[in-house]
Amino acid sequence: MKQVTGYAYEQSSFYGDLFRAEGITPDTINDLNAFSKLPFTRAEDILKNPNLLLCVSHAEVLRGYTVEMLNGQMKQIFFAQDDLENVINAISSVLDSIGITANGDLAVVFPQEYEWGIPDLMRRAATKSGGRVTLVEEPDLDKQIGKIEALRPEMIVGSAQQLFFLSMVLQKRGNPFGAHPKAVIACHGCVPYLFTEKAKAAVERVFGRVLFEHFGVTETGFNVGVDCRVHDGLHLNEADVYAEVVDPETGEPIPPEERGELVLTSLSQRAMPILRYRTGYISSITDEPCRCGDSLTRRLKIFDTLATEEELLNRPLVFHPF
Ligand SMILES: [Zn+2]
Repeated sequence: MKQVTGYAYEQSSFYGDLFRAEGITPDTINDLNAFSKLPFTRAEDILKNPNLLLCVSHAEVLRGYTVEMLNGQMKQIFFAQDDLENVINAISSVLDSIGITANGDLAVVFPQEYEWGIPDLMRRAATKSGGRVTLVEEPDLDKQIGKIEALRPEMIVGSAQQLFFLSMVLQKRGNPFGAHPKAVIACHGCVPYLFTEKAKAAVERVFGRVLFEHFGVTETGFNVGVDCRVHDGLHLNEADVYAEVVDPETGEPIPPEERGELVLTSLSQRAMPILRYRTGYISSITDEPCRCGDSLTRRLKIFDTLATEEELLNRPLVFHPF
């Protein structure tokens, strides 16, 4: 924590100015308590001038991702090549943890994007894990279903809203996929679409209890947490992200198990590490051991968002690298 704070302070003019204005020097960040006193980073800070948060030169930026905010404004998040390789490794670990098999077929259901877009990151990660990947990028749901039906994949990975739409169609006409895929991984967090209990239940009704939830936000490198076979909270990716839960009104830390706003710090992003980012998601974190046997990793639950219903109805459905 001290390391990432020092790095951001030294390399980015945004954090340098912010900390100096508050009289903070990184050598005083000796424990989590001191870290939890650092000022937050808000979406507006990134929107205003993302270049100020950069810790590397523009020449080192391989890709930027444009994230559409609820009010329609666009903010940009920059990644260097090693940042994206790290993202791919983290996705590959997720696929390994869920049990991808060598040469197992994966249907990757995401809207089409340019190179290094989400489907491409997924493809690279799945290939690294030994899977055979088929991208299901057609906008037409019937075509998607036909493609998945022909493939009979062992895993389906897709955005939560896309899998929800698929489930709605499949529920009406019966599941044509025969033996259920071993895992269906629903990814959410990168757009402010809320994967509600109702939506999860709809996907589970079609696919059975093989639904795994993956949560990530673009700002901290896409990979925050994924659930295990016990399905009782998302195991946090603590190598890459530090998660806190705070009172949305006061910003004060909230005890384990209690609900508050999720705040994330990227620990391994080199181009644009973001400290104490207010995500707008209402969540809780537990440090109780998981019944899967993992007693070390804290687990996250996402319940809601601070966005209003009206804002969510106008929500964007895509995000795109430039
Ligand atoms: Zn577990």
